[in-house]
Amino acid sequence: MVGAACAYYAARSGLTVTVLDRGPVAGGTTGAGEGNLLVSDKEPGPELELALLSSQLWRELAELLPPVTEYEPKGGLVVASGEAGMAALRDFAAGQENAGVTAHEIPADRLHDLEPHLTPALAGGFHYPQDAQVQPALAAAHLLKAAGERVRLRLGEEVTGLLTGASGEVRGVRTASGEVHGPYVVNAAGTWGGELARLAGVELPVLPRRGFVLVTEPLPRVVRHKVYAADYVADVASGSAALQTSAVVEGTPAGPVLIGASRERVGYDRSLSVEVLRRLAAGATALFPALAGVRVMRTYAGFRPYLPDHLPAIGPDPRVPGLLHACGHEGAGIGLAPATGLVIARYLTGGEPLLDTAPFRPDRFPAAV
Ligand SMILES: Cc1cc2nc3c(=O)[nH]c(=O)nc-3n(C[C@H](O)[C@H](O)[C@H](O)COP(=O)(O)OP(=O)(O)OC[C@H]3O[C@@H](n4cnc5c(N)ncnc54)[C@H](O)[C@@H]3O)c2cc1C
Repeated sequence: MVGAACAYYAARSGLTVTVLDRGPVAGGTTGAGEGNLLVSDKEPGPELELALLSSQLWRELAELLPPVTEYEPKGGLVVASGEAGMAALRDFAAGQENAGVTAHEIPADRLHDLEPHLTPALAGGFHYPQDAQVQPALAAAHLLKAAGERVRLRLGEEVTGLLTGASGEVRGVRTASGEVHGPYVVNAAGTWGGELARLAGVELPVLPRRGFVLVTEPLPRVVRHKVYAADYVADVASGSAALQTSAVVEGTPAGPVLIGASRERVGYDRSLSVEVLRRLAAGATALFPALAGVRVMRTYAGFRPYLPDHLPAIGPDPRVPGLLHACGHEGAGIGLAPATGLVIARYLTGGEPLLDTAPFRPDRFPAAV
């Protein structure tokens, strides 16, 4: 998704782009996530700024992407089970409102106006009308298509090396089938962004943060918004490698309900964890008791591209002239992709920066000893 957005905005700025992927379109984490475009879970700061810009860009992109990409500006609903949780949500929302986020407090007795199937055992919640959703794999594919003839797609082609000139400047990349030349290389390798950086001789500590999703059988619209429990925000912000689960539930236009969210750092271990699935199912049925009688069709896991400070790496790498990074978006890469792509395109064309990108500097991490 991030590579597709970089290619799209670079092409729209008049550049010619070759997109290389060792797999198919969306064969990485983009094909293994959900597709929430959230501002609700972000505290004021650089990530929220990027998310707000992205939310505006997603609305524009939705006009040109076909309906099959399922862009839905449906809003998010964050719920709390007790008064302490509501107080924390109130504080969080107050800070966000100063940063440009719209959030409405919903008292317990009005939650059912928004979500008729929600458990009555809740203290209230906050409605975030700017939250939206998209089908990520199809959005990535159609964005590449919308980029037009300036974008050449080379799938099944692995980047195995970086080509540099006499003073270390980028000249292109090497792949199994030859060389691809260009004055700039954008590292949009997601969770594998650290490996690609290493090919260029630089460190970028991207690590996999595993998450499972449960997918139910298609249902009539039981869940209207993205609904999640207040503790989700703390889990997202946690740096712990240990397993964290919090209830996140959303319907899709195609019918299945998607249930998350789990987070753990266990390397690239793909083995099924029944314990995680049990916790996800328990969290979802606690929020929506009606889901207890529904069948789960399948489950899948993906690896979020995690950087230790939870911010992506976006922009030029001062250590290698011509190398830019656009990776490490962790659990928000679908939401943050358009703003990332536009920021990268601005760098490539020497345009005015859109926002302060200092917090996203790729060389901000201390070198490993
Ligand atoms: C369970 C789960 C739920 C999620 N839910 C959401 C959500 O609701 N909203 C949200 O915004 N985000 C969500 N995410 C996170 C989101 O999916 C990621 O942040 C996003 O997909 C990252 O996109 P990307 O393009 O950077 O990486 P990827 O989609 O992984 O793309 C990187 C590509 O690089 C290719 N590649 C790697 N190395 C090489 C090489 N050497 N040569 C050639 N190609 C290479 C890979 O094949 C891959 O296709 C979720 C993630 C998970 C796991």
